[in-house]
Amino acid sequence: MPISKVLIANRGEIALRIHRACHEMGIQTVAVHSTADTEAMHVRLADQAVCIGPPAASESYLNIPNIIAAAEISGADAIHPGYGFLSENAKFAEIVEAHDLIFIGPKPEHIRIMGDKIEAKLTAAKLGLPLVPGSDGPISDVAEAKAVAAEIGYPVLIKAASGGGGRGMKVVESEDMLETLMQQAGSEAKAAFGDATVYMEKYLSDPRHIEFQVFGDGNGQAIHLGERDCSLQRRHQKVLEEAPSPVITMDQREWMGGIVAKAMADMGYRGAGTIEFLYEDGQFYFIEMNTRLQVEHPVTEAITGLDLVREQIRIADGHLLTLRQEDVEFRGHAIECRINAEHPRSFAPSPGLVKGYHAPGGMNVRVDSGLYAGYRVPPYYDSMIAKLIVWGHTREGALRRLRRALEEFVIDGITTTIPLHQALLDQPDFQDGEYTIKWLEHWLAEEGA
Ligand code: ADP
Repeated sequence: MPISKVLIANRGEIALRIHRACHEMGIQTVAVHSTADTEAMHVRLADQAVCIGPPAASESYLNIPNIIAAAEISGADAIHPGYGFLSENAKFAEIVEAHDLIFIGPKPEHIRIMGDKIEAKLTAAKLGLPLVPGSDGPISDVAEAKAVAAEIGYPVLIKAASGGGGRGMKVVESEDMLETLMQQAGSEAKAAFGDATVYMEKYLSDPRHIEFQVFGDGNGQAIHLGERDCSLQRRHQKVLEEAPSPVITMDQREWMGGIVAKAMADMGYRGAGTIEFLYEDGQFYFIEMNTRLQVEHPVTEAITGLDLVREQIRIADGHLLTLRQEDVEFRGHAIECRINAEHPRSFAPSPGLVKGYHAPGGMNVRVDSGLYAGYRVPPYYDSMIAKLIVWGHTREGALRRLRRALEEFVIDGITTTIPLHQALLDQPDFQDGEYTIKWLEHWLAEEGA
């Protein structure tokens, strides 16, 4: 029986994104929501809605028994986890499958392997992906840390094995700081992820963040959909993404894309995934794999013409990939701005009532957002409230369109990062595509932010 009703175990723009793909496929949707999200757009649009708990995510969007109960009560036959929340929780995927529901995502074993960054690196190495030099496994004592650091050379980066969202990372410039920072990273990791395990990597001084979108059918077929450049970051969090990367040539794309697609095929990977690399001096270095849909997937959709959520649902339903690698074509250039309910310089959160709202439109402009006039942005969750995605035949064209679309965007009542994106567009380095993962923070510091 094909999937006919999908429970969306998420909120905000991604819940709406999934709802839209489902309805276009003739699939019904079930929204699950906290008491803080009763008035959310996706809750209003879904065919059914079930309240699963109070505002705290731990009691609602992370509440597995309530989500499974909602699926059973509503008669859903599949669950889409979106990104964040339970999307990379292997236990959740297993529980979903144990209840005879389809998990729209990878096989639980692959989520588990890639969720442990140390195991992910070992797996990536076996699959032939180039790694950042570092420890072969966890680092438990200072003597070992010193030995590895001496071998790879300072500065080094201590990272949490269960890390995510840039947390639990410490840059160590020299040996005298190693012990203290290692302890700090361990206790931060323990507090954030319940796991104090850390490992070590060479700290690359000025790389770009370039990631490849992959899709596998779980049966040994896999393709890549090119790369995204996500180097514009603040505190290791992405702010703006573009595809293709301004610095990657077609040959490099085909070469590296071929390697990642083969790795996924060999693994028997199912569904959407992203292989993240740092890129410096013409070299790619694998850092991690995300076993889910990414926030920035629309830039890939814009240049390939594919609907990634539709592909995820089709694969979960047992279909083969729609496309073969040779059929994937890359057209033009796409840019996505993440718009947050935050002050554009201090980044202080700014939840509250949206008094007026007007989204830009016109050719090749896409806005993914659950906002509307009269909606109250709750203070409990991630501050991203909208994504603006533009496409142009060329990067210059996309930049011009982005400027025009940002001018049209009206979100009254709360403070947003729209002015930050406008200011970014005026920067010659950004216009020229000349930026690395450090660029945005340097520029903000110069601006006195
Ligand atoms: P998380 O899962 O916490 O997001 P990642 O491993 O994906 O952690 O790294 C997040 C960001 O941290 C990268 O995009 C990059 O900006 C920075 N980073 C990670 N590893 C390194 C490294 N070895 N050298 C320099 N920067 C790094």
